[in-house]
Amino acid sequence: MSAPLLSVRHMTAGYGDVTVVRDASLEVSEGQIVCLIGSNGAGKTTLLRALSGLVRRDGELCDFQGEDVLAMSPQDIVALGLVHVPEGRRLFQTMSVKDNLLMGAYLRSDRGGIAADLDRVMTIFPKLRERASQDASTMSGGEQQMCAIGRGLMASPRLLLIDELSLGLSPRLVDELVAALKTVNAQGISILLIEQDVMTALDVAQQGFVLDQGRITKSGSAADLAADSSIQAAYLGQ
Ligand code: ATP
Repeated sequence: MSAPLLSVRHMTAGYGDVTVVRDASLEVSEGQIVCLIGSNGAGKTTLLRALSGLVRRDGELCDFQGEDVLAMSPQDIVALGLVHVPEGRRLFQTMSVKDNLLMGAYLRSDRGGIAADLDRVMTIFPKLRERASQDASTMSGGEQQMCAIGRGLMASPRLLLIDELSLGLSPRLVDELVAALKTVNAQGISILLIEQDVMTALDVAQQGFVLDQGRITKSGSAADLAADSSIQAAYLGQ
């Protein structure tokens, strides 16, 4: 297996006095898609937000490409290539699709690279090219999710953190998004994915971690987790 791109050791995270994630350790290797599964309220979003520097967090180490991101600002974390696609997409609804995408590149000054990435994003998601000048508000939920992922890609990530890929989307759109993620991954971008549809999560990922009440209780290859009877009972309705 290749070297870890992200290595989290004993991280705790929460809001004010409330601790949500406890003693979490996980790794994402270069080139991998890794999923984080767990029931509602388990702390998945909080863990992702902690990696992005958006909530209180503490721990031994959170190494991303040799830098300890626990002490870094959200902006510096993005600049390093750890980029968050938040739950709920959070697009600027009255801005065009293209301008929403360009917001993802706000820390970059390489105009040539930005233009090339815009074209690359619109090739991965042809609907975004078709709708480039439309307001984000006119797009369907699935198209907005494409735009949110595209905005993340515009930040030139090494690791994309995606919070809830498929929430509220039709199976056909989910298939489209999964195919797009595989393309993104094949282009060398690693992905840490939260996905409430555990079957989809374990299908797209190579590795998985299970978060239960703020603690990582299980990890392994996606195939092993899918075959695990306790996971089948808890998350796959079997
Ligand atoms: P879901 O799938 O429902 O989004 P999750 O696994 O992503 O769940 P989190 O959203 O991280 O879980 O929430 C974990 C816990 O943290 C919940 O008990 C929630 O109430 C609490 N929490 C979330 N946001 C805040 C906040 N801003 N302040 C205080 N507590 C919060």
